Amino acid sequence: MSDVSVTKDTIPAAEADALVALSNVNKHFGALHVLQDIDLTIARGEVVVVIGPSGSGKSTLCRTINRLESVDSGSITLDGKPLPAEGRELARLRADVGMVFQSFNLFAHKTVLENVMLGQIKVRKKDKAEAEQSARALLDRVGVANQADKYPAQLSGGQQQRVAIARALAMEPKVMLFDEPTSALDPEMINEVLEVMQQLARDGMTMVVVTHEMGFARSAANRVVFMADGQIVEQATPEQFFTNPRSDRAKDFLSKIL
Ligand code: ADP
Ligand code: MG
Repeated sequence: MSDVSVTKDTIPAAEADALVALSNVNKHFGALHVLQDIDLTIARGEVVVVIGPSGSGKSTLCRTINRLESVDSGSITLDGKPLPAEGRELARLRADVGMVFQSFNLFAHKTVLENVMLGQIKVRKKDKAEAEQSARALLDRVGVANQADKYPAQLSGGQQQRVAIARALAMEPKVMLFDEPTSALDPEMINEVLEVMQQLARDGMTMVVVTHEMGFARSAANRVVFMADGQIVEQATPEQFFTNPRSDRAKDFLSKIL
């Protein structure tokens, strides 16, 4: 591909059609080339599961999509527009790209309800009554309506993660990124979070999910992206990937986790 940069204002047609498009993205941490020539397009309504060994760049990939990390070269577009670098536009981008982390990252000194209301008021400029109404509806949707007045520490990990999902959804994001959302949970709480994500996928949300939950990948993903050493090594449907991985690295990875 010819000279592409984050600031370019002409975007190839294929990228403009995708909801999220990364083109020839490179990123270094010092000497470490953590993202190497990443090309990835995510269509509207698509669920992409990203898997790969620890340290392969999965989290960094997610973080570049909402610009928690900058890139050294290449382009990233959301809805056909380059990601903004700073200011009010960046705050809007962060709202458009919902992110759920392994650690739930709720505001500890705000109630569950306040956690889900806050961004709606500050970023989306809704009035309080409107924000509360939508927060209660979302808490109901993720199954924690009766926890609205508690503080995060009073909830189980699974409940906290569902609140974190509700908080991201409250911003009416165009795409949701999940970075190992169940990795910090006790086993009995994993399914309640995966079920919420599964429902979200069925409702048509565009999702990028980094996970080691292969059952989720098989049932919810439209596409599996396998990363190793900063590269996308292969992309396939879950069916193809799990039954017939093409690369040795994917075969090796699957033999260790399945
Ligand atoms: P994964 O999520 O696949 O485990 P990461 O994207 O977290 O991988 O990390 C990829 C590599 O980049 C790892 O070697 C990690 O140590 C390194 N890395 C991640 N974040 C930073 C950072 N902020 N500074 C330096 N190195 C980092
Ligand atoms: Mg990670």
